[in-house]
Amino acid sequence: MRDAPKFPYAFIDKIIVSQEEIDQRVCELGETITRDYANSENLLLLGLLRGSVMFITDLMRKIHRPMTMDFMSVSSYAGSESSGFVRIDSDHKTNIHGWDVILVDDIVDSGFTVHTVRKLLLDRKPNSIKVCALLDKPDRHKVDIHIDYLGFSIPDYFVVGYGLDIDEKGRNLPYIASVDLEKFKQIYKK
Ligand code: 5GP
Ligand code: MG
Ligand code: MG
Repeated sequence: MRDAPKFPYAFIDKIIVSQEEIDQRVCELGETITRDYANSENLLLLGLLRGSVMFITDLMRKIHRPMTMDFMSVSSYAGSESSGFVRIDSDHKTNIHGWDVILVDDIVDSGFTVHTVRKLLLDRKPNSIKVCALLDKPDRHKVDIHIDYLGFSIPDYFVVGYGLDIDEKGRNLPYIASVDLEKFKQIYKK
């Protein structure tokens, strides 16, 4: 009898951040945000679809004060390498004028996405805007970017899981894992 596969996807290389580490860090971030926004009148967590969904739904459970949630969908042109051109595919619904906004993304790579969206949101006159990201790849930054609430800094791997995908696969993994890109190409003939 063959052993059950170690991971549900054959292209997974190894676990980079475990489920327990994520739980622990999300809890800490929620507590910090709860404290930092103790005097805020209107707090909005604004997530970038679709990668931030698992993160934002876990994070909001750890925020022990009134808040609302909204989403935007954006994409950067030119395949897997970020190009610096960020397109808004679907905008948020909330009028953020006067609100305290936390922009939530799954991972900061070049930094163009968060940098561009943050600038766009500033034009809409929120009371404040901060950035929260589950993961950061500091070696890859191409723009100067400040992350106010960060889960984990990771080396330059392509990772999936906990909402992050490769060609829409891997989002359901409860941990962050690196992808064996050669194997992925073999399996999906990409
Ligand atoms: P940036 O604009 O910072 O270069 O790219 C940010 C976006 O690229 C992320 O929100 C994410 O969608 C995608 N991305 C960057 N690195 C990775 C990665 O290692 N894994 C996955 N699944 N997506 C990534
Ligand atoms: Mg993204
Ligand atoms: Mg993706």
